[in-house]
Amino acid sequence: MTATSSFGEIRKGVFPSMQKHTFADPTTQPFWDAARVGRLIVPCCTRCGTFRLPPYPICYACQSFDLEWVELTGLGTVYSYTVVHHPLHPDLVDAVPYLSAIVELDGTQGEGARMLANVIDCEPGEISIGSRVRIIFEHVNDDMSTPRFRLVRGDEK
Ligand SMILES: [Zn+2]
Repeated sequence: MTATSSFGEIRKGVFPSMQKHTFADPTTQPFWDAARVGRLIVPCCTRCGTFRLPPYPICYACQSFDLEWVELTGLGTVYSYTVVHHPLHPDLVDAVPYLSAIVELDGTQGEGARMLANVIDCEPGEISIGSRVRIIFEHVNDDMSTPRFRLVRGDEK
């Protein structure tokens, strides 16, 4: 089902991208630049190997400012999730229920590099802790694409 609202197009299960600009700074711009072309990169400490997400300038494990951006596969495992049934705004009534999940990204240490995003094309009963997901980047405009996840189905796991 698709409807139009003050937030633009509303689709069931999809939290609309209300943010139209990244408002990025030098610490986060590389993430958004990669997202715009469908790639997931995450800052990793070059001293101790700890990934940090959301991106921030200092490593929480060893306090180093040194980092490199590492491209990940975009596959991950649901660490936790919630099903949102109550619309946060009357214009979101056609979007609920939608799923928000915290995802542990493959290739990272997990904690400290988890990612919170909407899981789309998924009924609430299909997801559980431990479900495998893959990131997708939904085009918003020429400056921004929004990360979301889809369930990995069948042999893709
Ligand atoms: Zn470190």
